[in-house]
Amino acid sequence: MSQVVIALGSNVGDTLANLKEAVSLLEKEGCGVLKKSKLYQTEPWGYVDQDDFLNGAVLIETDTPPFELLDVTQGIEKTMGRKKLFLNGPRNIDLDILIYEDEEIESDRLTIPHPRIGERLFVLRPLMDIVPDMIVPGLGSVKELYDHYHGEERVEETDLTL
Ligand code: AMP
Repeated sequence: MSQVVIALGSNVGDTLANLKEAVSLLEKEGCGVLKKSKLYQTEPWGYVDQDDFLNGAVLIETDTPPFELLDVTQGIEKTMGRKKLFLNGPRNIDLDILIYEDEEIESDRLTIPHPRIGERLFVLRPLMDIVPDMIVPGLGSVKELYDHYHGEERVEETDLTL
């Protein structure tokens, strides 16, 4: 079994229900959910003229190898009817594979660790809830990345739970 961290985001429709549905679909695909982060209301990044996102992350264990796991997460996005309007635009569900054990992969389809990990507070904050001591291959621990983050993104903790 491999331990994998997946980020979840939504800013269209019932965002909490969307995140919960994605987690339950991951479970149906054989991913055991070990830890769930708190959920955060975050400002959109890249394209700002859209609603805030609800973001979180889960630690899972799975036998599914990285590229097949990407098939799974993209299948879930498709099942949930995700329509990708444009880059960084609104979406009802977004699933990103952040960390896959000590794998380092760089291909057209898949980059692991996810390239945005150290630069986005909406990614680092949920990771601090569930895996502060995990090493992000090539970058250091989650806590180190969090301590070195110097941006000013608005990321507000909510009372919502996955
Ligand atoms: P997004 O719009 O954020 O969902 O990005 C989707 C695209 O990112 C897809 O074409 C994926 O093949 C690619 N991608 C590259 N690395 C990853 C990753 N670690 N997790 C999810 N998607 C990835």
